[in-house]
Amino acid sequence: MPTFVRTDKCDGCKGQDKTACMYICPNDLMTLNKDIMRGVNQEPDACWECYSCVKICPQQAIEARHYADFSPLGGSCQPLRGTDSIMWTIKFRNGNTKRFKFPIRTTPEGSIDPFGGKPQPGDINSQCYFTETSVATNIE
Ligand code: SF4
Ligand code: SF4
Repeated sequence: MPTFVRTDKCDGCKGQDKTACMYICPNDLMTLNKDIMRGVNQEPDACWECYSCVKICPQQAIEARHYADFSPLGGSCQPLRGTDSIMWTIKFRNGNTKRFKFPIRTTPEGSIDPFGGKPQPGDINSQCYFTETSVATNIE
């Protein structure tokens, strides 16, 4: 079930050229309707409910319509992402609410150097992976 934008909560990421939901969607589905300055899922059929836009939206303006077996009609499941944890708010259709908070990292945000300690990229025409010095030969 695709995501949809709560226009009462969305602030269009304050008019930035590329909104947070546009930046994060791996399928380039999110766009900004400049007439009303609100984000919109422009192709719901192609949404695979990865939840990336739901998690990144700073206004908690994006919701996903859940499958009925996961969350019956009237229920909702909304994340609030922090720098070191994520809080899930589950609303049941009988009005009950539960919250679950999970740590999402063990290091400070922005502290990871993904290429730290790795060798420099080598020859693009080489058949080696960039961490290899020679092609492995397992052929007997
Ligand atoms: S990330 Fe949220 S606030 Fe920003 S444009 Fe998208 S829906 Fe609106
Ligand atoms: S749930 Fe994933 S695929 Fe769907 S609009 Fe959001 S970021 Fe894109």
